[in-house]
Amino acid sequence: MLLDRRAFSFGSAALLTGCATVGGRPRTFADCTPLPKVLADESRVIRTVAGLRPYRRSGFVVRREALGDKALVHNYGHGGGGITLSWGSSKLAIELGLQGHSGPVAVIGSGVMGLSTARLVQEAGFPVTIYTAALPPDTTSNIAGGQFHPFSVFRDSEVTAEFRAQFARALDYSWRRFQIMVGEDYGVRWLPTYVESDSPEEKVIATFPPVNRMLRPAEHPFPIDSMRRYDTMYVETGRYLREMLRDFEIAGGKIEIRRFASPADIAALPEPLVFNCTGLGSRNLFNDLGLHPARGQLAILEPQPEVRYAALGDFGYMFPRPDGIILGGTFEIDEWDATPQPAAIARIVASHKRFFDSFRCAA
Ligand SMILES: Cc1cc2nc3c(=O)[nH]c(=O)nc-3n(C[C@H](O)[C@H](O)[C@H](O)COP(=O)(O)OP(=O)(O)OC[C@H]3O[C@@H](n4cnc5c(N)ncnc54)[C@H](O)[C@@H]3O)c2cc1C
Repeated sequence: MLLDRRAFSFGSAALLTGCATVGGRPRTFADCTPLPKVLADESRVIRTVAGLRPYRRSGFVVRREALGDKALVHNYGHGGGGITLSWGSSKLAIELGLQGHSGPVAVIGSGVMGLSTARLVQEAGFPVTIYTAALPPDTTSNIAGGQFHPFSVFRDSEVTAEFRAQFARALDYSWRRFQIMVGEDYGVRWLPTYVESDSPEEKVIATFPPVNRMLRPAEHPFPIDSMRRYDTMYVETGRYLREMLRDFEIAGGKIEIRRFASPADIAALPEPLVFNCTGLGSRNLFNDLGLHPARGQLAILEPQPEVRYAALGDFGYMFPRPDGIILGGTFEIDEWDATPQPAAIARIVASHKRFFDSFRCAA
């Protein structure tokens, strides 16, 4: 098993001495700003999940090609950043597909990529049918922690300049599109995010992440010397995908449950334009052997509404959501078994427990 980041280490002893409790109430030192602790313990685990990220070292595929007399546009392979990139990648895909098109459109797949593509095609004024083997909640997209951040989307040494430009455009559009969906309806929320980091600033694109700076030890309770803070959005994936499906149906979209075994099956569809949004399914369907599963496992704890920040570091990551506190995670290439492994889950919970038990002060 591979943790997303290196195993958690506790930080310096000097930092660990800063916390005390007086009269049952937490005491705040001048050099420590408290935050509520996550109660990370096996007894608070309410469910565990595992999913297979569709990972390509050379980056996701947005490409148009001919399939018999049809136009086929691929939109798959977004690794650990598919929620993040969904609107933007789908925007690139529809720009390729809708040029000169008239008539109905087929979208294959109803994960986050299929639903975003279908909605953008509807917004452009075309009737859409989604053909899909499974609907939410039975998609990989439902498993995702839902942080807006393009984590593990490609390997730096294996992408072209052309791909980087495509990636930046996709991220920029997604960033703006998710902002107009913030709120309880779609389950999209802003949260301050604390990241263990040595780099003074992280800028993926000019506008993201926005608030982004190294903190002084006095500004946080974490037992870590170098912490960076940025603000980003978090998507409660179950609620979000349910609402996206609802929007699709309200706009007149049709759904047919169907699994395709080969491109020839797709060529027989009545629609002259087809978007392929099958995620990891594209490996077999289109024989893309560069597409690999990257298994991710999560432990979900009972919700704690008072926890309104996310944290990431060598210990793993914690995203608080109304449907539970998400603790992650693993990134296990070429593991095809999408069932949570008890030993990995126990390690995830234990590393978070060590981290939160070591807070220098707590709210
Ligand atoms: C543990 C974990 C945590 C994650 N955390 C984040 C995160 O914090 N932020 C983030 O941005 N991303 C995250 N991701 C990544 C994200 O979940 C994926 O990149 C994203 O879900 C991919 O979406 P998709 O629509 O391409 O694929 P899927 O959600 O897998 O959807 C594919 C669809 O295609 C259908 N399909 C497949 N094959 C066929 C076929 N042959 N015929 C018909 N239909 C077919 C399926 O039924 C499904 O409906 C995480 C993933 C995991 C596993």
